[in-house]
Amino acid sequence: AEPRKRKPDWLRVKLPTGKEYAHVRSLVDNYKLHTICESGNCPNMGECWGAGTATFMILGNICTRSCSFCAVATGRPLAVDYDEPERVASSVQLMGVKHCVITSVDRDDLKDGGSIIWAETIRAVRRKSPETTLETLIPDFKGIWANLEHVLEEAPEVVSHNVETVQRLTREVRIQAKYERSLECLRRISQAGMRTKTGIMLGLGETEAEVLEAMDHLLEAGVHILTLGQYLQPTQKHHPVIEYIHPDQFAKYKEAGLGKGFRYVESGPMVRSSYHAERHLFDMQP
Ligand code: SF4
Ligand code: SF4
Repeated sequence: AEPRKRKPDWLRVKLPTGKEYAHVRSLVDNYKLHTICESGNCPNMGECWGAGTATFMILGNICTRSCSFCAVATGRPLAVDYDEPERVASSVQLMGVKHCVITSVDRDDLKDGGSIIWAETIRAVRRKSPETTLETLIPDFKGIWANLEHVLEEAPEVVSHNVETVQRLTREVRIQAKYERSLECLRRISQAGMRTKTGIMLGLGETEAEVLEAMDHLLEAGVHILTLGQYLQPTQKHHPVIEYIHPDQFAKYKEAGLGKGFRYVESGPMVRSSYHAERHLFDMQP
């Protein structure tokens, strides 16, 4: 068998240290919150938490889905925690960030898909931090669009839903999801007048032509902001890394995406959808 591919140099991570890091750590712990930074084994924790920001993950830390790339635990989720919105809002207030990203696990077990807690969380953050802009990275709500509406009615400044991979690999990478349903989700977000964002992980075996084709599908669905990052394998049980994409190739995709008409493209090995998210909002082309 082929030896396991070594991580290239450009994927070296910064160690978490500093006062801001400790502050974020204490908020997450004291308010008993979950973050995708931790649950997703994000390599940028040193940088983001060190800059005083984190991405909260609401509706618990157990997901009803089992995407083959994802480090979040799968299983039977715990009961809904109705205090969570207030605790998230208090932490956001104490972090004092200009822009805040919130995501969730998928709650296919709930009739409302978690959309009621989603809406309450947005309202609670707005009440406590009226100056903070909000980005919600949401699930597809199993295509029950009335649930998506609960989030859209709160009009977050950016609404994201990740397609994660190209059309051909969707079944293998996101077993309970559908590429077309995610495109439909994005189309509805965009048609509601929201800044619409999605992300794709590279290195799962997709070809360049497939990435460019996905860009066309996403633009056709009305997506404004695209993030492209390197997939990293959380454990041996997860989808293998097929390829480490060179930074030059990421730069090429960025050019291509902007040329095709995205208003912002963040593309690089360490990019995650919440990485530098404030720039996506504040620097996006009108
Ligand atoms: Fe957290 Fe996103 Fe930063 Fe990763 S990139 S540490 S998930 S905020
Ligand atoms: Fe992870 Fe989201 Fe898939 Fe759940 S739905 S396994 S949180 S990527």
